[in-house]
Amino acid sequence: MVDTSCEKCGNSMFLLQDNCDNCGENYEWELTKDCAECGGEVDLAESVVCGDCGSRYSVWTGIEDLVDESGGLYIDKGAVPHPCAGLYVPHAGFPRMQIFDYRKMSGVLGGDFHVVSYRDYYYIHKDGFSAISNPICHVMFDGGSKLLEVSTSVLSFL
Ligand SMILES: [Zn+2]
Ligand SMILES: [Zn+2]
Repeated sequence: MVDTSCEKCGNSMFLLQDNCDNCGENYEWELTKDCAECGGEVDLAESVVCGDCGSRYSVWTGIEDLVDESGGLYIDKGAVPHPCAGLYVPHAGFPRMQIFDYRKMSGVLGGDFHVVSYRDYYYIHKDGFSAISNPICHVMFDGGSKLLEVSTSVLSFL
C-alpha cells in the first residue's frame, strides 16, 4: 500500500505534495524505478534522467508502477507534468465533477491507466478493460461497477 497521509498529523495528502495543508510539514518524496536500459536506480521525484546511462523517463511511469501495486492514487497536480507528457490521450469519461479524463493503454490485455483531472489534483487508477481498444467490455465491466458503487452509496444514505 502507498500511504500518503502526513506522518506528523495524519492529514491525508496527495502523492508528491510538498507540504501538509494541515500542519505545514515538508516532505521529500522518492519515486524510484529500475532503469530499463541499464538496471540502475532512478528517482523520478528528483530527476527523470537515469544518472548512469542518460535514459529519460516520465514521472507518470513511476506513478503507474505504484498503481499496479496498490490501486488508485491522488496526485498533487503541481508536482507532475501534464498527462499528455506521459503519453496519455484525452478521453471522455462518465459524467462526474472532473474537468478532463486521460487514458493510456497498458498493454493489449492490460486495460487502461485512467487519469481524472480535478482542480488541484489528479486521480489515477486502472480500468480492467481498455476504453480505447475494448469499449464495449469497458462499459459492461468497468463502467458497470462504477455505476453500482454510486447506487449503493445512495441507498446507504436513505
Ligand atoms: Zn500534517
Ligand atoms: Zn540507466
